[in-house]
Amino acid sequence: MLHDLELISVGKTYPDGTVAVSDFDLQVEKGEFVAFLGPSGCGKSTTLRMIAGFEDITNGEVLMMGHNMTQVPPEKRPTSMIFQNYALFPHMNVRENVAFGLDVKGMPKAERDRKVDRILDMFDLDPVADRKADKLSGGQRQRIALARGLVVEPEILLLDEPLGALDANLRRIIQNELKLLQRELGITFIFVTHAQSEALGLSDRVVVMSNGVVEQISPPQQLYRRPETPFVADFIGSNTLIEGKSAGAGAPGFGRLDSPVGMIEGIGQGNETLAVIPAEAFRIVPQNTDGEIILSGTLTDRKLVGAVGHLNVRLADNREIAVEVSADRPEVQALTFGAPVTLGVDPSSVTLIHA
Ligand code: ADP
Repeated sequence: MLHDLELISVGKTYPDGTVAVSDFDLQVEKGEFVAFLGPSGCGKSTTLRMIAGFEDITNGEVLMMGHNMTQVPPEKRPTSMIFQNYALFPHMNVRENVAFGLDVKGMPKAERDRKVDRILDMFDLDPVADRKADKLSGGQRQRIALARGLVVEPEILLLDEPLGALDANLRRIIQNELKLLQRELGITFIFVTHAQSEALGLSDRVVVMSNGVVEQISPPQQLYRRPETPFVADFIGSNTLIEGKSAGAGAPGFGRLDSPVGMIEGIGQGNETLAVIPAEAFRIVPQNTDGEIILSGTLTDRKLVGAVGHLNVRLADNREIAVEVSADRPEVQALTFGAPVTLGVDPSSVTLIHA
């Protein structure tokens, strides 16, 4: 089966010796929404630019629908890219901005106008079609950028932090629109972001990157529930990581994990292991509870936000961990600062990974 996009061991070393991306492997199906997520400088934009053809590839290959694109210039690729700052031409009006990509392709005027009219209508931009791009609001500029990217009818739309310049409210609105649009058009989206909620909320699969390396590629829920590397466990969600040695059937040194737990393949007896415990896997239990994973500490902070109680608990080794519990529970409301807290953990929410 042909993939819409395939990266085979793609790498980029900049002329100054910076290794921005190494051995990036990815296969994307038609109509998938894939997010590249990671901290600033981890190589997300470089990878996106290599897919677009704006950046040469040092190693590996980029294939689209089975065709090798590695040497193909950007305008000949079935891609369109939307930049964070939108890269609109301020002196051109909205219509001219949107028509730009079609003009570059040398499309006959009648056909061009038909396509531009249709897309302006789709994005509710017809009332401002004759205005200069720099005379419009952030949300409108965002829509122009999307319209300009889509009017050329790409197979793959590449979006580089496209919502970064918007305020939180507008960002939420446009996130919804983007998701609906992507479903409606059935176009493949590759979306770069450093915002976890955006990646997890919008995409079918998330590629988590760190230091130019792919850490994990998973659907959002799986990424959240079953991180595979220490970086992902630390970066996604709010997890407590506990080190130990596996004692066979998955028992790190702090207690027993008898019930089924997610476990990375290949963890054997005596392996250095991290138990990853999501903040919401904890429960407050009576002090003499037995038979499940127990951690003890003292309460250092408690915030009740709606239905969720956000607690900070200092463990015996002085480390503070984040705990999320139901704010309505009497044992949560009874907690006082500095008081001892005993936490039980549901073993089925714990994941064991290589340390
Ligand atoms: P991200 O998009 O995840 O923030 P980038 O892809 O922009 O990361 O950058 C990855 C790494 O490559 C960083 O260390 C960055 O400083 C470096 N880098 C990016 N562009 C260049 C360039 N033109 N020349 C040299 N190094 C670069």
